[in-house]
Amino acid sequence: MVDTCRAYRYNKFCLFEVILVSLTIQWGELTAAKKPLQLSGSVDLAEAVKERADLVDAGPLHVQVQATYSSGVARVQGEAEAEFKFQCSRCLEPFKKRIRFPLREMFTKDKSILEAETEDLIHLVGTDEIDLAPVARENALLELPIAPICQEHCAGLCPVCGQNLNEATCGCEREQIDPRLAGLKDFFK
Ligand SMILES: [Zn+2]
Ligand SMILES: [Zn+2]
Repeated sequence: MVDTCRAYRYNKFCLFEVILVSLTIQWGELTAAKKPLQLSGSVDLAEAVKERADLVDAGPLHVQVQATYSSGVARVQGEAEAEFKFQCSRCLEPFKKRIRFPLREMFTKDKSILEAETEDLIHLVGTDEIDLAPVARENALLELPIAPICQEHCAGLCPVCGQNLNEATCGCEREQIDPRLAGLKDFFK
């Protein structure tokens, strides 16, 4: 244990638990490990921000997982958390929201396992390293709300004059909206 702790990839808390300050699993290290490997790290979400127009800013994504190996399959389990800055889909104002979600992924180097397994998605690993960063990033994107709203009762914008109805009322007759916008109104319901 002491020798392991001296390795540069490990932090100082190894007396209690060995935590890798990395999101890269060495296949050989995992298959030889007597205990689950604990990993933690941060993932940059700048690319994710570019993929969604309503995402103003995000990250970093903090990931903490444990990895185990059995019968040719590496199982990674844990959770991830990041702060996201969205543009509200109703009032268009930016707002921040912290999102936390579970991570559960499986990896194998054995193609025959992939073919036999039908229910679960297993990633095929081609090298001696499993990089968890892209998988965590992908999961984060899937966790984002489709139409983010700043608050449950966000009143949105007046479809007639564009006034943010959370801040003030405008007195517009809102039933007489442009028929071309009527479909859009239903869309946001
Ligand atoms: Zn809003
Ligand atoms: Zn108005």
